[in-house]
Amino acid sequence: MTEGRLMTLASDGSLMEMESDLFREAVGQFDRVAELIDLDPNLHARLRTPQRALVVTFPFRRDTYHEVDTAFGYRVQHVTTMGPSKGGIRFAANVNLGEVAALAMLMTWKCALVGLPFGGAKGGVRVDPLALSRAEKQRLTRRYTMEIINFIGPDKDIPAPDMGTDEQVMAWIMDTYSTHVGHAEPAVVTGKPPALGGSIARREATGRGLVSLLPSSAGHVGLDVEGARVAVNGFGNVGSFAALAASQMGTNVVALSDVKGGIYNGNGLDIEAVIKWVGDNQFLEGFPGAEVIANEELFAVDCDILIPAAVGGVLTKENADDIKAKVILEGANGPTTGEADKIFAGNNVFVVPDILANAGGVTVSYFEWVQDLQNYFWSESEIVGRLREIMSRAFSEVLDISVSENVDMRTAALIKGIRRVTAAKLARGIYP
Ligand code: NAD
Repeated sequence: MTEGRLMTLASDGSLMEMESDLFREAVGQFDRVAELIDLDPNLHARLRTPQRALVVTFPFRRDTYHEVDTAFGYRVQHVTTMGPSKGGIRFAANVNLGEVAALAMLMTWKCALVGLPFGGAKGGVRVDPLALSRAEKQRLTRRYTMEIINFIGPDKDIPAPDMGTDEQVMAWIMDTYSTHVGHAEPAVVTGKPPALGGSIARREATGRGLVSLLPSSAGHVGLDVEGARVAVNGFGNVGSFAALAASQMGTNVVALSDVKGGIYNGNGLDIEAVIKWVGDNQFLEGFPGAEVIANEELFAVDCDILIPAAVGGVLTKENADDIKAKVILEGANGPTTGEADKIFAGNNVFVVPDILANAGGVTVSYFEWVQDLQNYFWSESEIVGRLREIMSRAFSEVLDISVSENVDMRTAALIKGIRRVTAAKLARGIYP
């Protein structure tokens, strides 16, 4: 692609509005694969930036009545070619437009990779969710929803939970939206409580889907699942259900961490007891029967399988060589930098990339949306069975591309996702 076509770059080489480490990584990945598959330069240039990006600022009242804070919120739709866009909303202290845009791009490739009729989107509010009371979180959520209300909808863009948001936040979004359109509209969000049309098994879906790929991934590197040592970074929705599913499969989960630090037990942690502890105490800190480790130490723990399931950018050129795991299953979005990826390839670490490994969440969200639109709800066994089938098919297809084109799994997954999106764009053409 000629320099003149790279309109996302300012003269100083920055990515302008979207400038952020994660957006740089996402665009860098896309550029690399676009060149590898000889992507049409028109499509390449078009897909480097999101189709729509909304930045809002809005007030919300603190519990002390006269204290009013202003928050920044974002909603980005990367592609709307194949259907409505879809992606989570995160509440995090340092979220910015670039990060949300990068995550929206990853959502596009992820949905295309597993064959869902969505483009990618993402949203965020720059706020520390742990510093909010429940009432403050509710007011913030409702006002953010109002600010983006014309941007979302069951046929337009469907949010879901991500870091710092959960079923309750989705219920408030659904209620705010429904109140304003004048009728209940469950299909506007996924990841809702089942009482509001949420799907059973959605809460567990990302962790469960991820771990459903553990046997094939372990098999690929000649590792026994029984007794395999697992370390999980992040113990929220994804990390806790991944750890539980991995331990139920017969692995030994030896290390866990959350925002405050980590715990380690070489003989294996009792995950059900840890989940109960975190339910009562919010954090892993103080869990009896485990050594305390620092967050960074978790990555260097002696383990066979590493599951990053917290924030992005944690596996870097600084720590990649210390990692002993033979398999990395990426629960988090964007946990590995491009430099770390090269080191893993050199060290024969088998990386199952985010857009494949954590696609179980959006897949069950898709099931939820379909069930809401039809007002017809499926059984847990139907949901889990279809999830396993989709995950396992996507894994085999990506592995086939990886072998036939002699590329790593991330590149193979991106090739598959990007090819599907570009085929759809070419079929639609350009208006007018
Ligand atoms: P969550 O808010 O439920 O949990 C996040 C966890 O990470 C918490 O335990 C928190 O304490 C921990 N954490 C935060 N910062 C940390 C740090 N610096 N070091 C270590 N731990 C830290 O979020 P979640 O929904 O589980 O999402 C986790 C990751 O998975 C995110 O990258 C998200 O984008 C991705 N993801 C989530 C879903 C989903 O369905 N929830 C789907 C696909 C991908």
